[in-house]
Amino acid sequence: AAKEAGKNAYTIFDLKSHFNRKERVRVLEQIGRAVSNKELELYYQPKIDFKRRVVEGFEALIRWNHPEDGVLGPGSFLDHIEYTEYARAVGNMVINEGVDRLLAFAGENLNYSVSVNLSPSHFLSQFFLQDLTDAVERLPVSIRHRLILELLETTAMDDTQVVMKTLRDCRNLEVELSLDDFGTGYSSLDYFRKLPVQEIKIDRSFVSDMLEDSDAESVVNAILGLSNSFRRRVVAEGIETQGMHERLVALGCNLGQGFYYARPMRFNDALTWAKAFAWPASNPDSIV
Ligand code: C2E
Ligand code: MG
Ligand code: MG
Ligand code: MG
Repeated sequence: AAKEAGKNAYTIFDLKSHFNRKERVRVLEQIGRAVSNKELELYYQPKIDFKRRVVEGFEALIRWNHPEDGVLGPGSFLDHIEYTEYARAVGNMVINEGVDRLLAFAGENLNYSVSVNLSPSHFLSQFFLQDLTDAVERLPVSIRHRLILELLETTAMDDTQVVMKTLRDCRNLEVELSLDDFGTGYSSLDYFRKLPVQEIKIDRSFVSDMLEDSDAESVVNAILGLSNSFRRRVVAEGIETQGMHERLVALGCNLGQGFYYARPMRFNDALTWAKAFAWPASNPDSIV
């Protein structure tokens, strides 16, 4: 942008990167305290199974209950801690809370899944497999498939040899794997076919554009077709309206998340919501 601004470009103060830099310093100064004071909290967004008409599970999404700034979303701090020592600490906190929730569900005879988002740098690090093993071994083998690890498609493309090996090692622990924000990276069909993942999450951008933009709908349709051929389940994210829901069902999509059904909520609220969830039989396409 500075270059486009013309001959005086180098004298123009780059506000955006200035604030990013200040934000980064502040985050790195405070995140250690945040972890030890338990200021980080996972919210849970229900994942709906349209076919079986049930809540299939929850995705854990991190929030920072900041003492001065209120509740912060991941966009304001997660990127800053990537490739620092905190990525591992936060990553382990997230995975282990996911395990704790699954154990609590099992104690109540609930079979919800829990999806957790992996930190790219933790996933690619030498520590990841042992960290994951330590967490997953707390789960009985019979319910390990209910832990779903979400890896960004762009991360999966990073170091394909390492990624492929790590994903196989994860699978050997019996957990499931999901490719998040699919469609925003450009993984080759051959690589996609070989990735040992059980689930694909269609990026929100295609879902939100699909009613106005037939190209976006074509992408959604193509991902559904491809995933069907490769026997992966597909989750549509960012479903905000009944129109989007209906279109996705018409295209054969069976799973989705979005504000149309429920926002990410504190754990207890999400669980209460899920237990009360009922799809009115009289009007099968409406869930409100
Ligand atoms: P994601 O994994 O793709 O999660 C979906 C994001 O879309 C979440 O944003 C969610 O709140 C939001 N969302 C869900 N339904 C709707 C909808 O209908 N409309 C709109 N506009 N948005 C919707 P959030 O919580 O801000 O998280 C953003 C990203 O941060 C996540 O994208 C994920 O990549 C990352 N993230 C979140 N929690 C964690 C975590 O614990 N660890 C790591 N490593 N990454 C996380
Ligand atoms: Mg995700
Ligand atoms: Mg996503
Ligand atoms: Mg995303």
